[in-house]
Amino acid sequence: MASFTTEYTPLEEIPKIRTQLRDTFASGLTLPPAYRIQQLRQLARMCQENKDAITDALALDLGKPKIEVLSGEIGHIIARSLHAAEHVHEWTRPEKVEVDTPWQKEWDTRIYRLPKGVVLVIAPWNYPMALALQPLLGAIAAGCCVVIKLSEIAPHHASLLTRLLPQYLDSRAYRIVNGGVPEVTKVLELQWDHIFYTGHSAVARIISAAAAKHLTPLTLELGGKSPVIIDPASDLTLAARRVLYGKFNNAGQICVSPDYVLIHASAKPAFIAALQEACKEWFPNGCLESDDFASIVNPTHHARLKGLLDRTKGQIVMGGRVGEDKNGQMVRMELTVVDGVEEDDVLMEGEIFGPILPIVEVRDIDEAIEFVRARPHPLVLYAFTQNDEVRRKILLRTTSGNITFNDTVMQLSVNELPFGGVGESGHGRQIQKWSFDIFSYERSYVDIPPHVEPGLSHRYPPYDDRAMAM
Ligand code: NAD
Repeated sequence: MASFTTEYTPLEEIPKIRTQLRDTFASGLTLPPAYRIQQLRQLARMCQENKDAITDALALDLGKPKIEVLSGEIGHIIARSLHAAEHVHEWTRPEKVEVDTPWQKEWDTRIYRLPKGVVLVIAPWNYPMALALQPLLGAIAAGCCVVIKLSEIAPHHASLLTRLLPQYLDSRAYRIVNGGVPEVTKVLELQWDHIFYTGHSAVARIISAAAAKHLTPLTLELGGKSPVIIDPASDLTLAARRVLYGKFNNAGQICVSPDYVLIHASAKPAFIAALQEACKEWFPNGCLESDDFASIVNPTHHARLKGLLDRTKGQIVMGGRVGEDKNGQMVRMELTVVDGVEEDDVLMEGEIFGPILPIVEVRDIDEAIEFVRARPHPLVLYAFTQNDEVRRKILLRTTSGNITFNDTVMQLSVNELPFGGVGESGHGRQIQKWSFDIFSYERSYVDIPPHVEPGLSHRYPPYDDRAMAM
């Protein structure tokens, strides 16, 4: 698995690809709604007809269970491509604007939502299919031409998508670039009409600096430490199961994974016991042995996570074992809970992005809120409570891209809510029409008919008092 690499795009090809796409965009090929609809349907077909190949590739890259691939990588992309296809006409229809000013009443005033042009999508490895195709489908709906830079860390997926995309989509308008830092660097030297980046906040700073050189608009979908606040009065068994579900998904390698838990000492024993119970029920033979539990993406990330467990000053109260996959690679790690984690612990330094759940003790909900407020704004804030006052306090006194009460991760399944970060967890909103909006711009349109000229003639000098009325 580690030795498999995708064929990287030759550096000298990259500017040529951008030029070809610019020519395509200038030709107007991607403008007609019918074209966009056909391409969106093709994208859905590609996912539908290649489910087995996609699940195989993601099993090789991430040991991802088939059901997680079908639901988390393929199913919603099919649904959202078809939803976008259904709504392209509505989203692109010029909006007639009613003006309030009496002497402008006869002007034709509208808003057109038009494609930004040739855009760049940079995708990560953890949900390599979904996080490449979700922005792509928004850009197709908007009428843009697109270059997608796939992650080199999920090479089987990159290789498959590089083969499939041109079989289903028009290569004159949609292209893939493969490679690592040299290839991204080359891509970023070029001017794009929008950059959509999903990944780590450290790399986001490099992307932002490159975008700033060309004043390129940017969407940043980042991560960070998403906390879980537990009200001791909540159903602790249910809370434990739902937190563990979020942590177990893709072995915690998901941007919205619950990163750490803030809980009062009185509720902690019952909460931890419920975590242990749920883990035993779901993985009776241990997670390392289960096909339902994903692997860590590669030995480098595994060593990073193992290093965190070696250096934490907390106590491991569940899991903690590591192991090899079928190819003898050290990439497996159990669902692990670490109790007694202090603010300055190594587990609290950065996003964990793996199956480790630290438990931090707090005196009360107010201290939990202050703990969250003292740190960068998370992508998601999770809270378990049935108390309206507590719910309100958490909602109004914290800042995060998304807030979910009484469950984890499931907010991703709600198609009608926008998704995105705030501050350190990114900016911009996607899903459904929000994805279309990212790649469109609103062009104000005014047509002032000749016959209103008498009403406007007083704007010309020499000025008199009537000009004041304008
Ligand atoms: P990453 O930033 O390392 O990689 C993402 C992309 O950036 C890849 O295509 C990679 O080739 C490119 N890249 C890496 N190093 C680069 C460099 N020095 N210069 C230019 N480009 C570079 O991120 P990752 O490890 O793939 O993903 C993990 C992070 O992404 C986590 O923080 C996670 O929370 C976040 N994430 C966010 C979302 C979201 O929707 N908000 C979704 C998934 C992951």
